[in-house]
Amino acid sequence: MFDSLQDKMESAFKNLKGEGKLTEINVAQSIKEIRRALVAADVNYKIAKEFTDKIKDEALGSKNILKSVKPGELMVKIVMDEMTTLMGGQATGINVKGNPGVVLVAGLQGSGKTTFSGKLALFLKEKKSMKPLLVACDVYRPAAIDQLTVLAEQIGAAVYKEPENKNPVSIAQNAIAYAKGHSHDVVIVDTAGRLAIDEVMMTEIRNIKSGINPTETLFVVDSMTGQDAVNTALAFNDVIDYDGVVLTKLDGDTRGGAALSVKYTVGKPIKFASTGEKLNTLDVFHPERMAQRILG
Ligand code: GDP
Repeated sequence: MFDSLQDKMESAFKNLKGEGKLTEINVAQSIKEIRRALVAADVNYKIAKEFTDKIKDEALGSKNILKSVKPGELMVKIVMDEMTTLMGGQATGINVKGNPGVVLVAGLQGSGKTTFSGKLALFLKEKKSMKPLLVACDVYRPAAIDQLTVLAEQIGAAVYKEPENKNPVSIAQNAIAYAKGHSHDVVIVDTAGRLAIDEVMMTEIRNIKSGINPTETLFVVDSMTGQDAVNTALAFNDVIDYDGVVLTKLDGDTRGGAALSVKYTVGKPIKFASTGEKLNTLDVFHPERMAQRILG
């Protein structure tokens, strides 16, 4: 995960960890390298610049690393703290309270929505002792219904589907009524996605949201898509004002830009990180742990 970013960050700190005398020029050079590393990791230039300006103020201001005995370590700490803040500070939980709690899952096709829905069901079952109902609301692809059914079987969760019904709003509403009658305390609604954002899809997801009034709306995005991930996140937020973001495929060769920019750009927290195709590869997103991972 983030191998290239990690390497570049390490090299940026190198000249602060050396034996030679530390000068403002050395510090400025390191900060420039950090900025370059962020831009290369697909972080938008404006965010990278603001980020490094803050680091510079901290490093040469009150914390003055020039006077520090261990300037390299202090600099890493400053960057770590800022990076944690950039990614949202504290970990944020999801709201699954209700009778039942309703989680709406949205995103582009292929982003990992269905896989995440299964993972979330397993997470809620195992970690919160809940009884989830998975709902197949992709009315365009019968294969998506089959995929969710297989996932549900693997984790021993129930699935709600109406293959003949082409109205996702009514499927979701019926599923919630079914959940009430069958003591499911949480409903996870997996929706259809398109390969790109279009009006039809946006109208549909908006209608589903207003038709079921979810306790939690999550936007799923493939972290490998870099700056596009951030643009898609913005577009979906305009339409459904979601509560949080799920970053998928963090196990792949992602450069890290999405993880580092989405909270800052959209203002919504990253809530989960998905790191594999297996169902047990879902983690609550902890900004501090992620910053530690990036900075080694
Ligand atoms: P959907 O169209 O948004 O429902 O996407 P899917 O859940 O079908 O996922 C698309 C592909 O990405 C599938 O082959 C999944 O196995 C894969 N996938 C989903 N999440 C992850 C992840 O976190 N890591 C990796 N490596 N693959 C993933």
